[in-house]
Amino acid sequence: MKKVTILIPCYNEAQSLPLLYDQLKQLADTHTTYRWEWLFVDDGSKDNTLNCLKAIREADDRACFISLSRNFGKERAMLAGFDYASGDCVVIMDADLQHPPSVVPDMLRYWEEGYQDVYAKRSNRGKESFLRRRLSLLYYKILDKTTRYDVLQNVGDFRLLDKKCILALRKLRESQRYTKGMYCWIGFKKKEIVFNQQDRVAGTSAWSFFKLFSLAIDGLASSTTFPLHLSTFLGVTCALLALAYMLYVFVKTILVGEPVQGFPTLIIVILFLGGVQLLSLGIIGIYLGRIFNETKGRPVYLIDEAEGININEL
Ligand code: UDP
Ligand code: MG
Repeated sequence: MKKVTILIPCYNEAQSLPLLYDQLKQLADTHTTYRWEWLFVDDGSKDNTLNCLKAIREADDRACFISLSRNFGKERAMLAGFDYASGDCVVIMDADLQHPPSVVPDMLRYWEEGYQDVYAKRSNRGKESFLRRRLSLLYYKILDKTTRYDVLQNVGDFRLLDKKCILALRKLRESQRYTKGMYCWIGFKKKEIVFNQQDRVAGTSAWSFFKLFSLAIDGLASSTTFPLHLSTFLGVTCALLALAYMLYVFVKTILVGEPVQGFPTLIIVILFLGGVQLLSLGIIGIYLGRIFNETKGRPVYLIDEAEGININEL
C-alpha cells in the first residue's frame, strides 16, 4: 500500500490544529487505499502548539511531529519535513486550513497518472490590496524573465510532490531558502489544479509586508544573478551619458563660447552617480551577504524533540 505524507509546518497554530486534525482524519478515513502519515513541524511556536501536537500524537499514531529548537521560518521548517517524510509522496499544506484537504484526492489521482509535482493554483488571492496585487504580478514577471525556468504566479507551497522530488529537494540545502523557486528549479512532470483559497480559520498571518518584501528579495537573489548584470548595465549607461554630455558641453563652449552653468549640472551628476553607485553596492552586498551566510555551513535547522520519526535517519 502506498504511503502519503501530509507535511504541515506550524507556527503558533494551537487554535487551528484541532480543526485541521478533524479534517485530516476524515480524509484518511475515507481514503483507506493509502497509508497516511501527518508530519507536523512545530517551528518554535510560542503558544500551545507543541502540547496540541503531543495530544494528537497520543490519540492517533498516524500523526508524528518534529519540534524545532526555535522559530526558523516556514522555508526551513519545510526542509525539516522533507528530510523526515517517509511517504511515497508528500502533500505540503498550511496549518490554518487555507489549503482545503478536499483537494488532496484530486492531487492523488494525478499522481497515480504519473505526474510528480501536482501544484495547486489559487483561483482567487483573497483579501489583498490593489497595490500588493500589482507588485506581486510585476515581481513574478521579473523572476520569470530573468531565470531559465518557468516561475509560476499564484502558486504556493500547497502541492503534492513525488518521492523523487523530495529526494531532489533534500539536496538543496542552502540556508536562505526560496522553496517556491526550488520547485521550479528541480523540474519533473508538473500538473496544475485550481483551488479556492479559504480565509484563515484562526490566528493571524505571520507574514508582514516587510517579511514578504525580504522573502521577495531572497527569491530574486537566490534564483538569478540578473540584478548584478543590471548594475553593470546602469554603470555603462551612466558612463556613456556622461561622455555624451561632456562632448556636448565641449562643443558648445568652443562653437558658441557660452560659459558652462556649473552648479546645477554638477549637483545633478553627483547625485545621480552617487545613487547609482549606492544601488550597485547594495546589490553586490545582497549577494555577498548570501555568500557569507552559506559559507558558514551551519545546519539549516535544529531539532529539539520529535515523535514518530527516526531522528537518526540522516
Ligand atoms: N509558518 C511557519 N513558520 C513561520 C511562519 C509560518 O511554519 O515562521 C507556517 C504557518 O503555521 C502556516 C504556514 O506556515 O501553517 C503559512 O503561514 P501563514 O498562514 O502565516 O502565511 P500566509 O497563509 O499568510 O501566506
Ligand atoms: Mg495562511
